[in-house]
Amino acid sequence: MASTVHFWNLRASGKAPTHAKLAKLLDALPVADHIAKDDLTAVKLHFGEAGVTGFLAPHLVKPIIDRLLELESKPFLTDTATLYVGQRGNAVDHSLLARRHGFDPAVLGAPVHMADGLNSTNETTVSIPNGTELTEAHLAADILNAEAMAVLSHFKGHIAAGFGGALKNLAMGCATRKGKMHQHMAMGPKLTPENCVGCGACIEVCAPGALRLDADDRITIDHELCVGCGGCFHACPTKAVDIDWSLERARFIRRMMEYASAVYHNIQKPAVYVNFILDVTPECDCIGFSDAPICPNLGIAASTDPLALDQACIDLVNQAPALHPSKLPDDYQPGQNKFTTLNKDMPDHLGLDHAETLGIGSREYVLKHI
Ligand code: SF4
Ligand code: SF4
Repeated sequence: MASTVHFWNLRASGKAPTHAKLAKLLDALPVADHIAKDDLTAVKLHFGEAGVTGFLAPHLVKPIIDRLLELESKPFLTDTATLYVGQRGNAVDHSLLARRHGFDPAVLGAPVHMADGLNSTNETTVSIPNGTELTEAHLAADILNAEAMAVLSHFKGHIAAGFGGALKNLAMGCATRKGKMHQHMAMGPKLTPENCVGCGACIEVCAPGALRLDADDRITIDHELCVGCGGCFHACPTKAVDIDWSLERARFIRRMMEYASAVYHNIQKPAVYVNFILDVTPECDCIGFSDAPICPNLGIAASTDPLALDQACIDLVNQAPALHPSKLPDDYQPGQNKFTTLNKDMPDHLGLDHAETLGIGSREYVLKHI
């Protein structure tokens, strides 16, 4: 059955300014069916890596927080630690970066609370009943402890997943570092022993004792002991232990959808999802810069079905005119899929068919303009 995706095309007026349009978008869902008085409400978003400008602007998040406060819920802004080494690898650095990017509790009316704890060990493991790649998912515990959820996503391209929207925000965004590692890789970290200076920092953080130095003081690993926590990447000053990005793209995307399914089926009640089709950059908000957008700003879409929502956003971006100069090639032709043009070797349907088999939602949708 087709799901409903509500859409605002950014037209506004003095009588219907942005904050009123955003409230109308939420009420079309209707948000009050999903978020009630006193609900501890996880507002899942991405605060943007340092150097990125495309992340959601706090002034667009505020009207949503205001609506949640009007419902007398207790919203908190949340995300999880990154797998890669950057400025969001632990809750303290991450919270400070969120503050520098304008996510100030005193202004927004909601605190920042990292759902996976100080160092991404606040984790709950759940099963993935219909997974073809994975049987269990390692999720940020306070995503599952939250009594309600609103998932706000900057819709854009992504070098590994093809696109980033609601499903990726659920899958990668709600996983602990260990969960992120399991989506990305098969066999634990990649070692470059010639870069090792024998400092032992990675060995100290490796709880199962998978790492040790050989007779030449170079790092070695026992893959049987590695549980894939990802702690060693953040400890190593020389990248002698690093992320193994080599997992085949289609398998990575299937794993990601299986994580999205794990979150979707284990949160306490169905969430509301809002995708901002603004500054549609070719890459995600993790890479330290924002390239020129590939299409004009299109609007903001919302649904209670994250699969229908992402499908609708992909279609809207693909139907929109291309912007140049951008990462899209000069010979890009109208109607071509922008996401598969930017990133080759993507699986059919960008993994959305797998999401549908996992019971996340429907790829069929009806777009209703507000
Ligand atoms: S990923 Fe975790 S368990 Fe595996 S080697 Fe690194 S620190 Fe040890
Ligand atoms: S942290 Fe890096 S440099 Fe230090 S022992 Fe481990 S692998 Fe070698």
